[in-house]
Amino acid sequence: MALAPTVLVVAGSDSSGGAGVARDLSTLFRHGVRAALAVTAVTAQTHAAVRAVETMPAALVVEQMLAALAASPVGAVKIGMLGSGQTAMAVAGVLGDHPACPAILDPVLSASSGGSLLAGDARTALDGLMARAALVTPNRPELARLCGEPEATSQDEAIAQAVRLLERGARAVLVKGGHAGGARSDDLLVMPGAAVQRFSSPRLPFTLRGTGCTLASAIAAQLALGAGLSEAIALAKQHVSERLAEEGLPSDR
Ligand code: PLP
Repeated sequence: MALAPTVLVVAGSDSSGGAGVARDLSTLFRHGVRAALAVTAVTAQTHAAVRAVETMPAALVVEQMLAALAASPVGAVKIGMLGSGQTAMAVAGVLGDHPACPAILDPVLSASSGGSLLAGDARTALDGLMARAALVTPNRPELARLCGEPEATSQDEAIAQAVRLLERGARAVLVKGGHAGGARSDDLLVMPGAAVQRFSSPRLPFTLRGTGCTLASAIAAQLALGAGLSEAIALAKQHVSERLAEEGLPSDR
């Protein structure tokens, strides 16, 4: 039997289990994909607060990535919390040496409880890495911070902000609609020279931490399993809906 493909997770731990590495690994296992791991930070979190953050030295993150890449053929990389601009730059350097391996970048800036998970200015920290990733997956608040602008209030504004990321070097931007209002949750895939693709699902009356981690890991898993980018996104969105229905708490919306 052929060995299952491996996804390399580059991310931080969350002691509550709500997000971060625990979410990434559970998502990969559900896809029958093997996980390799480069830990960028250890965080102490409840669902309501970030209590402590200890970032790993950038050189140690690089060592973990290189060892993982040497140990097994890696089909895709999932990048979540980085903690520092230095680590982001170091990760971009490793990806530059492995251009055939697609990377999905979930630009984790803060926990939903509000605690910061990336030191310094997000734009400076993530610009180089965005240019090396096959896809970056901001929600609207993250997109606004990456653009240094107020949060988009319409899909057209969100698309215009995504285009600004493309102009700064991003290769593809998936603007997630989970934080927008409306009866449906629309994710918008914006790529240079292509029509915007819309991935739409009913907005479920549940809330769950770590849905950003889950979506990005599921996309990476699907790419490692051989799906194209659009197909991977569609399947990953379906996976998030399933997890929301299984594990989510009722939301007040
Ligand atoms: N903590 C860690 C370590 C994460 O990687 C992430 C990822 O998004 C979060 C927290 C944020 O999750 P949430 O927005 O669900 O709090």
